[in-house]
Amino acid sequence: MLFLRSFTQYIKESMDLSGKKYKVTNTDDIKGFILAGKAIFTIESQTTGVWYTYKITQAKKNKDIYFVNVLRGPDNQSSYTYLGLVSKNGDSFRFGLTKNSKYKIDAPCTVAFDYFFKNLIRGVLHPKMNFYHMGFCGRCGRALTVPESIKRGLGPWCAGKMSEEEEINNDRRRKLTQMNKDWKFDEVKDKRKRDSRIN
Ligand SMILES: [Zn+2]
Repeated sequence: MLFLRSFTQYIKESMDLSGKKYKVTNTDDIKGFILAGKAIFTIESQTTGVWYTYKITQAKKNKDIYFVNVLRGPDNQSSYTYLGLVSKNGDSFRFGLTKNSKYKIDAPCTVAFDYFFKNLIRGVLHPKMNFYHMGFCGRCGRALTVPESIKRGLGPWCAGKMSEEEEINNDRRRKLTQMNKDWKFDEVKDKRKRDSRIN
């Protein structure tokens, strides 16, 4: 029991220490994120502080099937256990356990996900529930850098806002602008140093 508690605490701390948790509140963004193909996210109850991290990956052969996994270890990229399936049928989505599920229907991590998912597909996020992604694109898994992308949990290309070429060019432009700013800042600093020497 003590071990279990300290282990849970350890996971929580290692997650908090990473400092990479981004809250999303828009239910369309959340839905787009979790079903993007490669999504890692945490849901947390504001009332109890209990949280679970899940990974949802789209099946390679059948794009209407998504595997739902729950985090069971300290590495939030790899320590996942199989929970169940989300299946898409036209516009409707259904979550269910399969014979390979490692948890029962009444396990807290199953109940939490089922509740969250059922509401989400109706466009509802419980007001006492927080949703976070980890700063990685839900579709390709690359780190997100632009505020707009972080808000949505998808990079511009994966969100279908941009061609890959545009994205690369924009990224380049952004870096050059930043470089320019840094240089100007250095110039100002040098000038101040010179001025203060003269005075
Ligand atoms: Zn992406």
